[in-house]
Amino acid sequence: MLRDKFGREIHDLRISVTDRCNFSCVYCKSADPKNYFPHRDLLTWEEFLRLSRVLAGLGIRKIRVTGGEPLLREGVVDFIARLRQIDGLEDVALTTNGYLLPEMARELARAGAPRVTVSLDSTNPEKFARITRTPRSYEKVMAGIDAALEAGLRPVKVNIVLVRGFNDDEIVEFACLARRRDIVVRFIEFMPLDADHAWKRELVVTAKEIVDAIHPVFPLEEIPRHSASETALRYRFADGQGEVGIVAPVSIPFCGQCSRLRVTADGKLRTCLFSLREHDVRPLVRNGATDGDLAAFMKEAVSQKERSHRINEPDFVQPSRTMVYIGG
Ligand code: SF4
Repeated sequence: MLRDKFGREIHDLRISVTDRCNFSCVYCKSADPKNYFPHRDLLTWEEFLRLSRVLAGLGIRKIRVTGGEPLLREGVVDFIARLRQIDGLEDVALTTNGYLLPEMARELARAGAPRVTVSLDSTNPEKFARITRTPRSYEKVMAGIDAALEAGLRPVKVNIVLVRGFNDDEIVEFACLARRRDIVVRFIEFMPLDADHAWKRELVVTAKEIVDAIHPVFPLEEIPRHSASETALRYRFADGQGEVGIVAPVSIPFCGQCSRLRVTADGKLRTCLFSLREHDVRPLVRNGATDGDLAAFMKEAVSQKERSHRINEPDFVQPSRTMVYIGG
């Protein structure tokens, strides 16, 4: 079992399979990135699969496939199908901006129907285009959510990064969406991982504010956590019309039970979303390391896992690697 020096068991892996994205969301990627990784620096599907097998052998039980935008990388559906074949893996999930889901939802369903999380930061098409800096994106994403539901992908979760002054006026509208559709709406507090370094504490809409906005309109009941490492606070509507979740890394950090490890598209192990140092596994993978060598390398990296992020500390330093290169 992968366990860090604070006794936390690591059983969730997030794999960023590409740094490319067809959106340029204001809280994530800079408007015109020219610094994509050269293709030769991106791990191949075989390399990702090998790392996944070694890590499954060390207790990883859940893999979330992220990006950039993972559906942009050719072969991702087959990759998900092969992840499903790995012994010990219990769960495969996908985080996508949904733009390519109308075309790919059925393929994904055939490839083992990963749980799907779609980013949807506004219910207003114009505002959505402003947030993603991509015209006519809202309609495609909504069609993507429909296609995922029609293809039988479940659950379908919708992530909303709330930024004060941008989309915090839509909290109740998003709650309505969760009541109307067979989707789980999850609000996420804005985190300091954006390429433009525009993050400020006053732009964060906290979990308390979100509950205070919804509860008077649609009374909420808190749902006890399934597992200690679950990141979202969950609330059901008291009248039974669905549920919402809140991921509150800034106002209610959950680092104490963190079970996550990340692999970036260019082969860096990150033991925390806010790590200031990385562990480069690509040279090992490409220069004859055995699975035993890789396992030892992973254990060593996890033994150095940070206790927590330091967003609320005066000495907080935003990592140089931004969200689009980590994948959440
Ligand atoms: S901030 Fe780091 S330590 Fe905290 S929950 Fe996220 S990955 Fe884990």
